[in-house]
Amino acid sequence: MRLLVVEDENDLATALGKELARDGYAVDLAEDGEEALFLIEINNYDLVVLDLNLPELDGLEVLDRLRADHPLAKVLILTARTEVEDRVRGLDMGAHDYLTKPFYLKELKARVRALLRRDFVTQDTVLQCGHLKMDTVKHIAWCENRPLDLTRKEYAILRYLLLQTGKAVSQEELLEHIWDDSVNPFTNVVRVHINTLRRKLGDNAENPIYIETISGMGYRLKEPNS
Ligand code: CA
Repeated sequence: MRLLVVEDENDLATALGKELARDGYAVDLAEDGEEALFLIEINNYDLVVLDLNLPELDGLEVLDRLRADHPLAKVLILTARTEVEDRVRGLDMGAHDYLTKPFYLKELKARVRALLRRDFVTQDTVLQCGHLKMDTVKHIAWCENRPLDLTRKEYAILRYLLLQTGKAVSQEELLEHIWDDSVNPFTNVVRVHINTLRRKLGDNAENPIYIETISGMGYRLKEPNS
């Protein structure tokens, strides 16, 4: 999942970026409205955390453009407790949720998880597919009750595949949603990570139990008994 944090308070932006990256999300930071619009134009975000009180361009203008260009992106707005009018306008303009400052990082992370779950079949914080299980709150995954020692990227890939169980996910889609701006789009980084993930699952590319390669399409997490 790829996130954009738009926040001009440096310390807060850095803390948010770090915490969300720790949860396995690819995070880009923008410190004003102009930069946010630039990033929104070139990237495809699953969720945007948007402070409404921004220099250069107002957060509500950013929101307006964001809703027009990326109707599927989830938006969580941040406002001061006193900015009731802005909050109401933001929600009326299509923001999905809000937090008033100051807030607990724990709460922000829970709201992010809830928003990102919305489009998927499951509303559960525990994802499961056959013998594969992932607790997205505790960040633990198991395969046949054996805890998996996954890197952040492997965890993020597995979470993405679990959320789309049974659907083929292309390399491009994984690159777009799991990696941030710094990745070279022509690398074989997805294949490398899928291979290490398979090894940790005890899976086999030729005769897969979990992750299938769909020729010309990408990868698919097999539904049990399929
Ligand atoms: Ca601000």
